[in-house]
Amino acid sequence: MPHATTRLPDAQRLSVGGIRITALSDGPLPLGRDVLTGIDAPEYARLLRRDHHDPDTWRSGLNAFVIETAGRTVLVDAGVAGRMGDRTGRVPDNLAAAGFAPGDIDTVFVTHLHPDHIAGLLDGGGARFSNATLRVHGADRDHFAGDDLPDAVLAAYEVETFAAGIDIAPGLRALPLPGHTPGHSGLEIADGDATLLLWTDIVHIAPVQLANPDVGTTFDVDPDRARATRKALLDRVSADATPVLGSHVTFPGAGVIERLAEGFALRPLPYTHDG
Ligand SMILES: [Zn+2]
Repeated sequence: MPHATTRLPDAQRLSVGGIRITALSDGPLPLGRDVLTGIDAPEYARLLRRDHHDPDTWRSGLNAFVIETAGRTVLVDAGVAGRMGDRTGRVPDNLAAAGFAPGDIDTVFVTHLHPDHIAGLLDGGGARFSNATLRVHGADRDHFAGDDLPDAVLAAYEVETFAAGIDIAPGLRALPLPGHTPGHSGLEIADGDATLLLWTDIVHIAPVQLANPDVGTTFDVDPDRARATRKALLDRVSADATPVLGSHVTFPGAGVIERLAEGFALRPLPYTHDG
């Protein structure tokens, strides 16, 4: 019997108290050692194998998220719109498979203005999510002014900038994580005692950068600051076992960080059956 050719949706639900998160994959991201700094090929392979991955076939991920809280529907990033290989650009299909129409999104939270997070916000040059207000950190708006794609995205939407500590929606507080870009920001998601920290691009090749948080990427705008932000956050979430959610952590991107004798590792959250 032939394999079925229909692609299954890559969407998974997670809950933080009464807040519902739907993780959406944009597809596998072809990132490898060439985008890392401070590590050679043998060490790269050793660290991937330490985490039980084959260095020759391992791929990073690219995730976006819909967060429903208190009647609001917030989209966090929107994928790369197929610009990084023909297996990327899956967010619109996965959004539809999860039951969302583009008009359902009232807020787009942009973690930072790199193409793999914002290209999917455009549809034929206009806003794909035409009912949404776009929230972006002011430092990223300023840093990327004059770049074609960020300019096009910001021109297509009603834009409201934010700074540290701002509530984007009930239970969603902006958490600036500067370094990767000046305004790179995650979200602290909380409802009652339940919390989760969306850390977006703290790591790009998780098994390697968790094992050795000194390893950076060639696209960190301020590598030293990115490294300091990564280390401080890993110390925090490993100390209190706050679950994390990452843009480039293997789909759906959620887990708890454990401190090991050598660096850290991610223990993925179990499947919740919340869908
Ligand atoms: Zn990214």
